[in-house]
Amino acid sequence: MNNRVHQGHLARKRFGQNFLNDQFIIESIVSAINPQKGQALVEIGPGLGALTEPVGERLDALTVVELDRDLAARLQTHPFLAPKLTIYQQDAMTMDFAELAKKQGQALRVFGNLPYNISTPLMFHLFSYTDAIADMHFMLQKEVVNRLVAGPGTKAYGRLSVMAQYYCKVIPVLEVPPGAFTPPPKVDSAVVRLVPHATLPHPVKALNILNRITTAAFNQRRKTLRNSLGNLFSPETLAELGVDSALRAENVSVAQYCQMANFLAENPPSQES
Ligand code: SAM
Repeated sequence: MNNRVHQGHLARKRFGQNFLNDQFIIESIVSAINPQKGQALVEIGPGLGALTEPVGERLDALTVVELDRDLAARLQTHPFLAPKLTIYQQDAMTMDFAELAKKQGQALRVFGNLPYNISTPLMFHLFSYTDAIADMHFMLQKEVVNRLVAGPGTKAYGRLSVMAQYYCKVIPVLEVPPGAFTPPPKVDSAVVRLVPHATLPHPVKALNILNRITTAAFNQRRKTLRNSLGNLFSPETLAELGVDSALRAENVSVAQYCQMANFLAENPPSQES
């Protein structure tokens, strides 16, 4: 049997389609999400409904965002879900989650077994809407979950860790083997819960500056800050900020990156690089 066909649908690689087929894993994810009537749940990539059905059973209404036209059409005629669903047949990367939360009159609870090919840019897109989001539960490549939760001093710690932890509390939920999907992906997967901080622990004055610093530092993660950030900070300035310029990007905490960004926002470098 062609293992790319699931419930009569041929899985499309370009849409990152790996459908969950393991009932125990599905139930574990749904109980981690713990959907309650009246909440504004939004699923990204409902696919053939592996999570949509058990979540939808517990709710009166559910919003889904599905790029694949055929799958969106199937959901439109789903025997018991259809009347509960608001279906956006569009790219989740173009979804305005703030507008959606406004329509729903409450913060969103976003979840999904995400297409792995776009999961990192999609996370960054969602981070820009954390004011409109109560929490998020995502199935991701295990390696991406490791990066989201990583702390300083580890190999997995990078720009994604800093930005995720700037916005959210990040909690790993469960690991999922390839066999839980049809077709099985080539990598291990894991579910993560992200809860946007009610009050940002280290607010920055300009996010673009935090982005710029973390990009510059981690793009050259083997170099010391003296070298990778030399055009933005003198070693003396870093010392004043309590950051040793002999450190590498992976040894700098989220709080320190934010402090550096705030310094730069107030003291822009005279010579742009
Ligand atoms: N939720 C289903 C499950 O667990 O079996 C399907 C998960 S599958 C990994 C990813 C789903 O996201 C597919 O249904 C795919 O068509 C959809 N998708 C892919 N790219 C998308 C995008 N940019 N925006 C919204 N949905 C997308």
